[in-house]
Amino acid sequence: MILGQEILRAAKILAEAENAAASCGAGISAESGIPTFRDPGGVWERADPAEMGTSEGLIATLKTNPQKLLPVFRDLLDTFEQAEPNPAHFALRHLEQMGILKTVVTQNIDNLQQEAGSTDVIEVHGNGFRMRCLKCGRSKCYPRKDMIRRIKEKIQAPDSVAFSDIVELMPKCEECGSVTRPDVVMFGEAVKDIPKSFEAARKCDVMLAIGTSGVVYPAAYLPFEAKEAGARVIVVNPNENAFHRVSDVYIPLKAAEAMDQIVKAVKEQ
Ligand SMILES: [Zn+2]
Repeated sequence: MILGQEILRAAKILAEAENAAASCGAGISAESGIPTFRDPGGVWERADPAEMGTSEGLIATLKTNPQKLLPVFRDLLDTFEQAEPNPAHFALRHLEQMGILKTVVTQNIDNLQQEAGSTDVIEVHGNGFRMRCLKCGRSKCYPRKDMIRRIKEKIQAPDSVAFSDIVELMPKCEECGSVTRPDVVMFGEAVKDIPKSFEAARKCDVMLAIGTSGVVYPAAYLPFEAKEAGARVIVVNPNENAFHRVSDVYIPLKAAEAMDQIVKAVKEQ
């Protein structure tokens, strides 16, 4: 079977690697039940990015019509509450434990890669469960399910909600007591840790591009950067993607199935 040979080739390449990096897109968390925000069924089909996707838009909507946000907000909370790391997240943790994988660059804000046990995760779009103080800039991570449960309890009963209620839902800064916001990159805001992610791409000996279509910056450039610096590139994606020109191995499967098989094959090497 041709696909089996590709899995084997990927495993051989990884078995020889000592400093692999992964660049993960929404595809790796889709199998944890988190739909891609920009795809059909995603949040931007139900919510206007101008009203919810920018911080100015979100604050304006919170002040003028906070009820409008409630259904989408509740829906997002349910989605993130039910999500668990899947075999693809755990496969990356196993590769780290085997001394093969050093860094994961992820576009996801769901904290699932860390919950799977990976220790070096660069979150270019931030983390939805890390709160950043609007005054002193300090940030702190909160346990995902606890935080969601607390917020859901507060917005359960009332059908209407005021701006101040939403602000009250966010934990206060433990240093200065000021208001915090989720430390995620919204539309129009700068992507985080770009130099670090490009450095990981330049230094790695193998780049795994998993569930990323190659249209979102900076993830779109990382496999190219890695290839140019001499790394081999393994692409895992059942859908159309931009990496054919640089991929040494292409596995057109969903992340969990592909990564599970690859790690098993690495262990057999
Ligand atoms: Zn503060």
